[in-house]
Amino acid sequence: VLKYSPFMVSFRKHYPWVQLSGHAGNFQAGEDGRILKRFCQCEQRSLEQLMSDPLRPFVPAYYGIVEQDGQTFNQMEDLLAEFEGPSIMDCKMGSRTYLEEELVKARERPRPRKDMYEKMVAVDPGAPTPEEHAQGAVTKPRYMQWRETMSSTSTLGFRIEGIKKADGTCNTNFKKTQELEQVTKVLEDFVDRDRRILKKYVARLEELREALEKSPFFKTHEVVGSSLLFVHDHTGLAKVWMIDFGKTVALPDHQTLSHRLPWAEGNHEDGYLWGLDNMIRLLQGLAQS
Ligand code: ATP
Ligand code: MG
Ligand code: MG
Repeated sequence: VLKYSPFMVSFRKHYPWVQLSGHAGNFQAGEDGRILKRFCQCEQRSLEQLMSDPLRPFVPAYYGIVEQDGQTFNQMEDLLAEFEGPSIMDCKMGSRTYLEEELVKARERPRPRKDMYEKMVAVDPGAPTPEEHAQGAVTKPRYMQWRETMSSTSTLGFRIEGIKKADGTCNTNFKKTQELEQVTKVLEDFVDRDRRILKKYVARLEELREALEKSPFFKTHEVVGSSLLFVHDHTGLAKVWMIDFGKTVALPDHQTLSHRLPWAEGNHEDGYLWGLDNMIRLLQGLAQS
């Protein structure tokens, strides 16, 4: 039986499992040391290909599809299994968190959306234009593009989705955390200013960057909405993995990406490496201060 408090999932395991984003209910316990994530074709394809790519050491091991209680899941490695009471952070990478195809689709019939207007006003009452205020609604493409400008997605190429620290404190409200200074403070607090941990994170991210730069998979895919999962514990173990490939799609005919150039509609650039460069520089700064 699964039990949910906001983001804690009790998996009948010898350790509590933590989910920092997504819908509660998207995950279930798998076999020992494995978890089940609600099936998504896109994710399956990506994980399969990543198993024979230079990125393999930086993604959860993939164990194929599993049927349980009439539902289909992707079974993968539980990255928390080797840690003792870990601190965990989910950073969503890239300068854009929706796919180009989503934007095109959202534009086809741009219906006024009251729900999105309300979400917008809840974050920033001054964000809607006078016309949007009068309508009490915004269109989906407008909402999608506005949302990126609120967080560090547009300014740094990544944003913090959620943090759960070993001491139990939890924060998943970074929607308006945009300034470099704010982000730096959050990261500093996440590692409790521990230089040993910071250095391990920097080393791991530098290895990841090298793997990304030589990965055939990465070169030929638009990687959107994917996160880096940071995990460390009191024993000094600290690692980072790439997770969430639900919006990782192959580029049309032989196109490749730099992952560093700015996005212009049609070029598919996702800003992943730009964000990773910024992240590494920021953590290096903290490790040296
Ligand atoms: P969203 O698209 O809203 O981000 P999602 O349903 O695609 O959500 P993920 O982002 O893949 O789900 O995962 C949600 C959370 O679950 C992560 O933030 C992380 O805390 C946890 N998680 C995901 N995959 C793993 C894994 N392999 N091992 C350990 N924890 C994981
Ligand atoms: Mg995610
Ligand atoms: Mg996702």
